Amino acid sequence: MICDAHVHVGQFRELYTSPNDIVNFFESLCVDKYAVSSTSTCMPSEKANPIEEMKELSGLAGNKLVPVLWVVRRMLANSTLKESVECGVNWRCLKIHGYFEQWEEDEIEYVIDVARELRLPLLFHTGGRPESDSESYLDIIKRNQDVTCIIAHSRPIDQALKVLEECPNCYADTAFTPAECISELIINGFEDRVLFGTDYPLHDYFYPGQDMSALYRKIILDTQSVMSEQQWDKVSHVNFEKLFL
Ligand SMILES: [Zn+2]
Repeated sequence: MICDAHVHVGQFRELYTSPNDIVNFFESLCVDKYAVSSTSTCMPSEKANPIEEMKELSGLAGNKLVPVLWVVRRMLANSTLKESVECGVNWRCLKIHGYFEQWEEDEIEYVIDVARELRLPLLFHTGGRPESDSESYLDIIKRNQDVTCIIAHSRPIDQALKVLEECPNCYADTAFTPAECISELIINGFEDRVLFGTDYPLHDYFYPGQDMSALYRKIILDTQSVMSEQQWDKVSHVNFEKLFL
């Protein structure tokens, strides 16, 4: 069984991935469940509506889908966060992106409070600049031990290890994480808190022209190669089920 904890639907720069594309791709690769957020949220365009996309995806994917609500700062400013939370999608996780947007600490605390109230995990993008590196979230994750957090991409790896070490309420995903860094997560004993994730379909934007199915299979094999079969069981689905289902 394979569950992908980091997937996107919608508009990403010039690339548009429809709900149908997502379902067909994972069907063809026998991926059982997928946690999806909409990149349209931070790249508004005429045709892409993140809530409508998620509703459509939900209708197509049924219980294979774990819908992730991507929270942006303007939702706090114009109070549309509540509207999005209550739009009828069965959200299973919240996400914020500290690279696309500069988040203030009190704003993050506000989203943490929403996650606590809804009893949902909160996913942080990590990497790209110091303000969104793993360690920049250390204090806030530590202060809120009753909220489960996920550091997406585990970047940079030494900081990700430190956050996992100091915060038992924190998980890490492997989206775009090199195999040698995934190996570090396992060697350091975090197999119960690592989630297999890919960031599909963004490879299509960053490395255009590749065979996405072949690439996806390679990511699975590379991830499997740095752990035992029992550890892969946990990383590929047991931890995902524990967290989202
Ligand atoms: Zn992503």
